[in-house]
Amino acid sequence: MLYKVEENCTGCGVCAEVCDLNLITVYDNYIEMDIDKCVHCSKCVESCPNGVFTKKVILKHFLTLFYNKITGIF
Ligand code: SF4
Ligand code: SF4
Repeated sequence: MLYKVEENCTGCGVCAEVCDLNLITVYDNYIEMDIDKCVHCSKCVESCPNGVFTKKVILKHFLTLFYNKITGIF
């Protein structure tokens, strides 16, 4: 599943460069992450020069992932 992150993103592409699994696609002012394959290494979080990955974004990411896992069970 693709997870969109757009708040404060400039589309610089740094986060995509550091992701060893190539899970991030960069657009003009947002990114999409393939969160089903993410190993939560945090490299993208630490690399962003604009602090896009706030606690709120990370929490929403994990809630989305958790919701998908739960709904996939039933
Ligand atoms: S946490 Fe790691 S694996 Fe997941 S998208 Fe970021 S860099 Fe890639
Ligand atoms: S490093 Fe930050 S500002 Fe740059 S593309 Fe990724 S999320 Fe957007």
